Amino acid sequence: MPKVLVLSGDGIGVEVTEVSLDLLEIVGEKHGIEFEFEKAHFGGSSLDVHGVPVTEEVLAKAKSSDAVLMGAVGGPKWESHEHELKPESGLLALRKELDAFANLRPAVVYPALADASSLKREVVEGTDIMVVRELTGGIYFGKPRGIEDMPEGGQKAYNTLVYSTEEVERIARVAFDIARKRKKRLTSIDKSNVLEVMQFWRDIVSRIQEAEYPDIELDHLYVDNAAMQLIRRPKSFDVILAGNMFGDIISDEAAQLTGSLGMLPSASIGKGAIYEPVHGSAPDIAGQDLANPIASVLTSAMMLKYSLNEDDAAKELEQAVEAVLEKGYRTADIYQEGTKKVGCEEMGSLLKAEINA
Ligand code: NAD
Repeated sequence: MPKVLVLSGDGIGVEVTEVSLDLLEIVGEKHGIEFEFEKAHFGGSSLDVHGVPVTEEVLAKAKSSDAVLMGAVGGPKWESHEHELKPESGLLALRKELDAFANLRPAVVYPALADASSLKREVVEGTDIMVVRELTGGIYFGKPRGIEDMPEGGQKAYNTLVYSTEEVERIARVAFDIARKRKKRLTSIDKSNVLEVMQFWRDIVSRIQEAEYPDIELDHLYVDNAAMQLIRRPKSFDVILAGNMFGDIISDEAAQLTGSLGMLPSASIGKGAIYEPVHGSAPDIAGQDLANPIASVLTSAMMLKYSLNEDDAAKELEQAVEAVLEKGYRTADIYQEGTKKVGCEEMGSLLKAEINA
């Protein structure tokens, strides 16, 4: 019985997670999965009830669950709080507690939405990329770091790009394992022509491929070239592996190919697994039945696939999304003339009908 901790959070996080839970129950029934869902306050809602963005109890529950399903956190009500008492600090604490070192960011261009991309339909249609980003190391965390005065006057500022063998090996294995579940192609991104640490990265990724994943086709791209190729030939990528900073940039570039924030799922995996839509709590549309629940539904599909090994159930959710889009139904964020505009709840009902069909 998979234990799922549900942290729907704030704003539209609550609305979209409700849709996901409904659909998970239905696919669960069809595929014999008996979920044990436990809901808890998180982010702003936890601040309101407990005075902290996440309690120790919730962190412990997250650790003992098979997966954490999140909505989104944040909102104007808590914006003026000091750093530790901001809703987003709860998210950082949760990622840290679960040692979530691998960030998975798929970018899929659905044929029905190809015109919403800023690139031409013929370039993006059929794009299906998974960016695997290292999330807890690299230059964002490396030491020494700081700004200091120089004896001769003026100042200097510095950060350190550092990766250990173990850090590169573990993220590479996550990416290779995912490639094995997909089209068996991995592109590792680095800057080995300039940085020693990136040559180190490249050598380790190559070694892991030779020793453990000979069935996966591996190529390496310098990050500047990768940024260009991603908009020139997005369809040719399958899994992209990158360190923290390059992955940060490349995953947003890949996301932009797809057109809308309301369509983007993500996962952060380590000792536990957190599944969350890429979007935030969208206070501008919260409580108005305007949110697109698809990012959350696709996030749930990722949870089924990557934490619960329920690939068929995951596929069912993904196919329901595709079918509803093909039939021309759109929430406001992805609406185009000639399509049928629906709210969050109705989108949920349409997806449900597809699964039950
Ligand atoms: P946002 O993602 O909440 O919204 C950006 C824009 O996209 C808004 O116009 C919003 O209406 C729209 N949008 C987002 N998701 C949508 C959806 N599913 N359907 C339809 N439209 C959607 O980003 P923001 O406005 O910069 O941030 C709002 C709050 O969310 C802030 O407090 C921020 O810190 C927080 N935030 C949280 C997370 C998270 O929980 N992981 C991520 C990003 C931002």
